[in-house]
Amino acid sequence: MTDFSPNTTDRAATVSSAGERALIQRIRARSGTSPRAPWVTLGIGDDGSVMAVPRGEVLVSSVDALVEDVHFRLDWSTPHSVGRKAIAVSLSDLAAMGAAPRAVLVSLTLPAGFPLADFDALVDGLVEEAGRHGATLAGGNIATSPGGLAVHVTSLGSAHPRRILTRAGGRPGDELFVTGTIGAATAGLGALMQAGPAGTRAIADLAECLARYETPSPLIRCGQRVAGQRAASACMDLSDGLADAARQIAQASGMGACLDAAQLPVHPGARRWFEAAGLDPVAAALSGGEDYELLFAVPRRRRRGFFAAIARSGGISATRIGELTTAPALVLRQSDHNLELPAGYSHLG
Ligand SMILES: [Mg+2]
Repeated sequence: MTDFSPNTTDRAATVSSAGERALIQRIRARSGTSPRAPWVTLGIGDDGSVMAVPRGEVLVSSVDALVEDVHFRLDWSTPHSVGRKAIAVSLSDLAAMGAAPRAVLVSLTLPAGFPLADFDALVDGLVEEAGRHGATLAGGNIATSPGGLAVHVTSLGSAHPRRILTRAGGRPGDELFVTGTIGAATAGLGALMQAGPAGTRAIADLAECLARYETPSPLIRCGQRVAGQRAASACMDLSDGLADAARQIAQASGMGACLDAAQLPVHPGARRWFEAAGLDPVAAALSGGEDYELLFAVPRRRRRGFFAAIARSGGISATRIGELTTAPALVLRQSDHNLELPAGYSHLG
């Protein structure tokens, strides 16, 4: 008889042969190493989890999904990195709200033949990434999939109600700042699509782009620091690209935006890859998704506070890339002419 106890390492075992109860036991065992946070008063194993929000704060929640062959491929990414990324992309929405992560709920839809060892690696990735950002795996659900693997993550965080960042608070003249660099994840994905995992090893200086695509990191501390300083009027994370984020902030705030092409911090490795692939680096980096950087609208009188917050965000840079405008258009300013901003990246496109 096969042993499905939490420590078994039988390579032939699958999730369907283990059964749901054994899988939940394995999740409990694997998440037991992280200390349970005081705010989760009832965690995995009951019909629901129970969570207390710190006094004076409100709950901030978001849900996101990674679906096999839509958002990832298991011949390109390990189950462990899929687990990490599922948590990271969901927590990135809390970062953009300026909230502190508290707990995550995970819904796993598993193909019947999914190996138990891969299930363990997936769970380890989920637990590790949640723990890295102070969130407890507080519960979830497991279902069988007739198709591929899907991982849905609900992130629960908290924030002071007057410190929450939304997309809608921008004013004309507010400067737009983006953290880090853009385009790396798109170049990493493009290289994988073109050459596959083995082929990408031959491409010089693409390691950072591949890592950004594979295991992005949510800018939790940065979002909290800027929100804590009340240094930004609006914020959004770059899940679907910088052009999309600029458009979303502008539209939610009821205005337009103007971006300077020459100021965009395109990742140098991505720039080289785009050029070698015959793509315009600025257009590719603007419309490419999955950078998970943050775009802030910053009132001019808050500039100093904004840079003070960035300086306390742990080695993060921010680049001024444009401003919000009264005119509703979304414009990309280039040296010789202006362009309408390209549309954002869409997984459904
Ligand atoms: Mg988002």
